[in-house]
Amino acid sequence: MAYIQCNHCGKKFEELNASGIKKVNCVWCDEPLRKNPQKKAAQRIAAGIGTNEVVVTDIRMSFGSMVEFMVKWVIASIPAVIILLIIGFGVLYLIGLLFYSGESYLYQALMESLS
Ligand SMILES: [Zn+2]
Repeated sequence: MAYIQCNHCGKKFEELNASGIKKVNCVWCDEPLRKNPQKKAAQRIAAGIGTNEVVVTDIRMSFGSMVEFMVKWVIASIPAVIILLIIGFGVLYLIGLLFYSGESYLYQALMESLS
């Protein structure tokens, strides 16, 4: 016989009733039995299973709110583009320093190999 513990009152009792069907309420306090959802969620997060994963199959949205949503999206993308431009120019600047400065070792090595 499998015994389960009530999450509400902490008392233990048999999981199945006389007909062999799983009980849905605690026999002591009559609270609905939950399989400890918080603990389960924590375990899933720890195992990295299915957290924050979203599968979008369809979007049902009125035209007006779709337009509003897209406008918000575009406005929110402006700072993102600025950040990417700053990073991009920074990387290009570093590459430029490595190869195209007269003082650069790499530049001199390149020029020597060409001459
Ligand atoms: Zn209980």
